[in-house]
Amino acid sequence: MATVEQHVEQEILAPRGVAGHRAGTAWSGAEIAVENPATGQTIATVPDLGAEAVADMARRGRAAQPAWEAYGFEGRGRVLSRAQKWVMDNAERIIATICSETGKTYEDASLAEIGYAGNAFGFWAKQAPEYLADERVRSSQLLVKGKRLVLRYRPLGLIGVIGPWNYPLTNSFGDCIPALAAGNSVILKPSEVTPLTSLLMAEGLRECGLPEDVLQIATGRGETGAALIEHVDMIMFTGSTRTGRKVAEAAARRLIPASLELGGKDPMIVLADADLERAANFATYYSMQNAGQTCISIERAYVEAPVYDEFVAKVSDKVRALRVGPPEGPGSVEVGAITFPPQLQTIESHVADAIDKGARVLTGGHALQPAVAGGGRFYEPTVLVDVDHTMVCMTEETFGPTLPIMRVADAEEAVRLANDSPYGLGASVFSRDVARGEEIARRLDTGAANVNDAMINYTVLELPMGGAKASGLGSRHGAGGIRKYCSQQAIVVTPRLALKKEPFMYPYRRRTSRMLAGLFKLLYGRGKRD
Ligand code: NDP
Repeated sequence: MATVEQHVEQEILAPRGVAGHRAGTAWSGAEIAVENPATGQTIATVPDLGAEAVADMARRGRAAQPAWEAYGFEGRGRVLSRAQKWVMDNAERIIATICSETGKTYEDASLAEIGYAGNAFGFWAKQAPEYLADERVRSSQLLVKGKRLVLRYRPLGLIGVIGPWNYPLTNSFGDCIPALAAGNSVILKPSEVTPLTSLLMAEGLRECGLPEDVLQIATGRGETGAALIEHVDMIMFTGSTRTGRKVAEAAARRLIPASLELGGKDPMIVLADADLERAANFATYYSMQNAGQTCISIERAYVEAPVYDEFVAKVSDKVRALRVGPPEGPGSVEVGAITFPPQLQTIESHVADAIDKGARVLTGGHALQPAVAGGGRFYEPTVLVDVDHTMVCMTEETFGPTLPIMRVADAEEAVRLANDSPYGLGASVFSRDVARGEEIARRLDTGAANVNDAMINYTVLELPMGGAKASGLGSRHGAGGIRKYCSQQAIVVTPRLALKKEPFMYPYRRRTSRMLAGLFKLLYGRGKRD
């Protein structure tokens, strides 16, 4: 029986021009077939790792971590900077791997995955020392006068990252980068549907000097992810709200922190004074990009009555012009495949439910016929109107190339409907009056809100990206996006020249107790109150 590493080397890395070079992990031999969703063909098989293999990886990851931490920010930053260059030098190979396992277009892989990874490696290499630097703290507490107070961040140890299938590089692998920059070892469990990009990236990082076992890829299904949670010091999960709840429960049982990036139903609000041409272009792009399989896609639009007809006409024309089908390199189609097989049924059921309840399809509305789709899985870019909140397409995550557009009387109705959702990931507001646009954005119960733009907040690595309500707990990016991979340690240092004893210590004496009580009154009891 081959080891995991031999299998990965022969079956996955060698055909992609990368040399693997390890041996070790125990494996029963069970495999998962990886399909190209754009062609229906099996393109590789990966090991389906059980609990024993995950435990073995966890032991190795823990053993490797102290030496990685000892590299310091500079040493780790060097490896990550090399990885940034490696991504650029190998961009075509990475894009080909992403496209082959997701069925997405060349542009969707290049812009939203290579662009993200290139930025993220450099960002975390540069920012980690600043975000995790010791913080000198000042206190008004009398008892610590003259002492040095420091807040320190230290890596948690072994981090588990579990990722979804829609962005194997950005959302799955991307969260490993700050965890590594902080000095942790990481085990990544990619989606069973899209494991190849993670394996390629891990090998790339090894080429860049990442020590053995600091980053390991645990290929497998949901059970592999569940097993991983049992061994790590913190779990970073991206995926559906349903699985996110299970992950949170398992983390709570072990009393380990969990950061959850979950589903969304992002609203777009178009006010009557909006630049309609821009709003229509953004509605089209950000609802259809990646075939709508983005957590922060525009999933529903609310348009003020005076501009509703014009907006709908513009969007319908633009969506009708999109090409959908098997991508064949740059510039071939705008809308690629539906990556995850059951997702196609979800999209079809949302559209059917809307039609049943009185919605009209202005363009699209069907899965692509086999004659056009070949063996692949595609859904036509679709615009729905006459929709309302009795329809699941307005309340549940569709995660497909569909845009339901609803007419609203005014901004108040738009805000009420936008907030009428269990989700709260992102949102967008379009208005020429940017102050009003911002005022409305601030009233939306979402982790992010863009004015006259959409989704762009994800690219701003300095800003936190996370969801409100059922869209998640915690966030990625910004200072919090790396501090979550650390524990905090408060350090209080008393100078060498100090009293032998503090006045409040034993033995208790009436006079001292009275004096202390008087002192507290002086400190906290003076001054007028309401
Ligand atoms: P899932 O929740 O189905 O799966 C996510 C990951 O969890 C997969 O690797 C999956 O493995 C694994 N998993 C399944 N069961 C368990 C378990 N019991 N314990 C631990 N891990 C488990 O999500 P999808 O892959 O379908 O991803 C799509 C979802 O992700 C959408 O809802 C989308 O909105 C959300 N998402 C959120 C983002 C955000 O930043 N907020 C970003 C991107 C996507 P396997 O695939 O092998 O079953």
